[in-house]
Amino acid sequence: YTGKSGKQLLAEKVMKLTVKQYQSIPVVVKESSSVYDAICTMFLEDVGTLFVVDESSSLVGILSRKDLLRASLGKQVLETVPVNIIMTRMPNLTICYKDDLIIDVAKKLIEKQIDALPVVKSSDGTSYEVVGRITKTNITKALVDLANDE
Ligand code: ADP
Repeated sequence: YTGKSGKQLLAEKVMKLTVKQYQSIPVVVKESSSVYDAICTMFLEDVGTLFVVDESSSLVGILSRKDLLRASLGKQVLETVPVNIIMTRMPNLTICYKDDLIIDVAKKLIEKQIDALPVVKSSDGTSYEVVGRITKTNITKALVDLANDE
């Protein structure tokens, strides 16, 4: 018998859950894509958040459902407005890495009041390659795994 309380054991399990175990495939669009194409991609790929990349595949922005809804309320022609006009852009993006803890991602989602984070990799420390996506749904899956003691 370890003498550890149920609370301690649960805390230990929580501290073992990492992004790489729960991340999903990222869905990206180019910054030159139109708002119209981004809306189509969001429906076709069945995601709530799109990551925007530049010509060299580096992360430059994020598009949420409401970003696209807001853009659709305007009088602009959606086929001609590029997403880089309406996206949330670097350096205001909240990101994470595959070895980060799920609990730290959960804290960031709550603190920033957002639904998803891009999982990134950086070879030079200035540009970020998108390698995954972690959302509230992935965090919910982690919670269920904890309850099932996996
Ligand atoms: P929605 O806007 O559909 O409710 P979110 O709550 O995820 O979805 O997004 C709220 C705002 O925060 C949007 O303007 C979006 O561009 C921005 N946003 C979403 N994810 C991030 C992130 N990881 N880092 C910075 N901003 C983000």
